[in-house]
Amino acid sequence: MKTFVIANWKMNPSSSAKAEFLFNSIKDGLENIEKLGKKTEIVICPPFPYLSIISNIYNPCLPSPEAKATGGQVKSNIKLGAQNCFWEDPPAGGGSFTGEISLLMLKDLGCKYVIIGHSERRMFLNETDRIINKKIRAVLAKRIEPILCVGENRKDKEQGKTQTVLRKQIENGLKRISKSDVKKIIFAYEPLWAIGSGRPCSPDEAQVIRLFFKKVISQKYFRSIADEINILYGGSVDSSNAKSFIEEAGFQGVLVGGSSLKPKEFIELVKNI
Ligand code: PEP
Repeated sequence: MKTFVIANWKMNPSSSAKAEFLFNSIKDGLENIEKLGKKTEIVICPPFPYLSIISNIYNPCLPSPEAKATGGQVKSNIKLGAQNCFWEDPPAGGGSFTGEISLLMLKDLGCKYVIIGHSERRMFLNETDRIINKKIRAVLAKRIEPILCVGENRKDKEQGKTQTVLRKQIENGLKRISKSDVKKIIFAYEPLWAIGSGRPCSPDEAQVIRLFFKKVISQKYFRSIADEINILYGGSVDSSNAKSFIEEAGFQGVLVGGSSLKPKEFIELVKNI
């Protein structure tokens, strides 16, 4: 199985020149990671305006002219992802959607992945489970891989409601998604109290939640499907703790915010797992 490291740059850095520099630094440090015998898929998710800049300098997911001729893809362990999308296609989807970004646009830029339902979007932009489910279904229909984020906040945790909250987010996010499609979703457990706090969930606690994800997915689909699902951990992951979420807690990778903006730290993180 592959290990995933998803870099969520959020609303950073502050200029396109800095984005180009950040991407090039990461690329130079990691381009040949496969030579170390690692099967790591590194997914860089910059803000929308920088997607085309990065796609133009690197084009990690688009077929090269030679690959296009043979129907293949550029071989690279660094892929491009988006942090959000809209669920309709313009204009046949029946309306105009000022300010939104379509999946066709993301696909054209070479995005292989899209983060859906990040807690900051749920919290500050009122993204509901219903909206998240629409986005997941639209992403799957375009053959892009969704990264579905779910997580409880501190109050939920203190009130013992973690599993209830997670079950609701998972089940609602998966409405009308087939058995074959659910396997294409990458799940990310991101407890809100751990995001950006410098205090990650302990690997033991995270492991219990990972098994709970499998239980919920088994109950909705089959055990065999739950066994195939990729589940990542996110929340204050850095180069010193990333490995523990994979080796001790059994996750298939990590979703990284703050540490993905520091090239040395991020390269170290990938090399350490
Ligand atoms: C995130 O926002 O998805 C995240 C994991 O952030 P951080 O790594 O900074 O906690």
